[in-house]
Amino acid sequence: MTEQQQPARTTSGHHPTSAAAGTRLDPWLGSYADRTHAMRASEIRALFAVANRPEVVSLAGGMPFLEGLPLDDLAELAARTVATRGLTALQYGSGQGDETLREQILEVMRLEAIDAHPDDVVVTTGSQQALDLVTRIFIDPGDVVVAEAPSYVGALGVFRAYQAEVVHVPIDADGLVPELLDETLTALRAAGRRVKFLYTVPNFHNPAGVSISLERRPRILEVAARHGVLVLEDNPYGLLGFDGEPRPAMRSMSEEGVIYLGSFSKTFAPGYRVGWAVAPHAVREKLVLASESAILCPSNASQLAISTYLQTFDWRGQIKSYREQYRDRRDAMVDALAEHMPDATWTVPDGGFYTWVRLPDGLDAKDMLPRAVTARVAYVPGTAFYFDGTGSDHMRLSFCYPTPERIREGVRRLAGVVRGEREL
Ligand code: PMP
Repeated sequence: MTEQQQPARTTSGHHPTSAAAGTRLDPWLGSYADRTHAMRASEIRALFAVANRPEVVSLAGGMPFLEGLPLDDLAELAARTVATRGLTALQYGSGQGDETLREQILEVMRLEAIDAHPDDVVVTTGSQQALDLVTRIFIDPGDVVVAEAPSYVGALGVFRAYQAEVVHVPIDADGLVPELLDETLTALRAAGRRVKFLYTVPNFHNPAGVSISLERRPRILEVAARHGVLVLEDNPYGLLGFDGEPRPAMRSMSEEGVIYLGSFSKTFAPGYRVGWAVAPHAVREKLVLASESAILCPSNASQLAISTYLQTFDWRGQIKSYREQYRDRRDAMVDALAEHMPDATWTVPDGGFYTWVRLPDGLDAKDMLPRAVTARVAYVPGTAFYFDGTGSDHMRLSFCYPTPERIREGVRRLAGVVRGEREL
């Protein structure tokens, strides 16, 4: 029997039903690693191509609205950086990341009460790469990651690619529920499962829009520590609160039990692809080794651009203006929902990019999406945010990118689609 004639292997449950059927389309089907079969294109990707047309109001994407950035000044800065520091900017750099930038990152993290040393920081290509590295160094196939229900779709994709099994824990308006986390971890231990880490987005959750209350944070850390489970705190939105001061990060309450991920994608711009991880000493060394084998080093050009931006621009003022911009859009979103979709329920986020909407009458957001796109409005169905594809009665609406008028128009169109569904 040749490699290509072998029946599809079934260990991960995600394999094609017939390797032979695949040979016409892909002669290498029999050669892929098991984990590659676990990688899946988003079921909704095709619709998103349509959703990106200008006539469609997209409440689907998570793109920040960058038009307020001082582009001319940033262009000048980029040119000056290459003129004066080009031989560094265009050269290979340190696997752990530029030291000056790592020091500046400490200043950013102090806003969330994190006290760390530059050696604790690993610069990554966006926090998405940090998610990949953490998963790569901890997960063997079949290991369990415990995560909020729902969870960030991009993290679920990484966990799936490394053949983890994700077990979800319910959340409420105050975020992850410590008692339910305790119950879940106890049950997993009784079943003999290896839980490697808890993945959480504590602030302005993607997609749920809620934050873990101050009171719950130490309790979650206590539960995780008692079960010997590391906490992976993914925090790209923490500085984008609409009212009051940023909440202290969980990393500020535990140095040994938490890996913290940060990013400049939402507080400045995602295009430079600069994020970071802060990890306990031994973990940090493993992360650097994993990162060096993946990418050798993060881009010096990007790191210098961010570093000079932090040095020479009013980055705190930029974050303040982002907060105001997104607060106006959040207001437009929740006002429009109250006006047009009073039978649905939704979270009212006090920061970040997203609200999480529950449809009335058990309507199915995934089934409805093609009709919504025909009505020129797009969203992400809740199923994307659950490892097992449940959550179809929910949808994520993002208010980060469209203008307030477009958001209102989008919700008005969506309400029309929902009315139509109920009449079907
Ligand atoms: N984590 C969460 C919760 C996110 O929402 C995102 C981006 N949407 C990321 C990580 C990845 O961000 P980046 O790689 O741009 O830092």
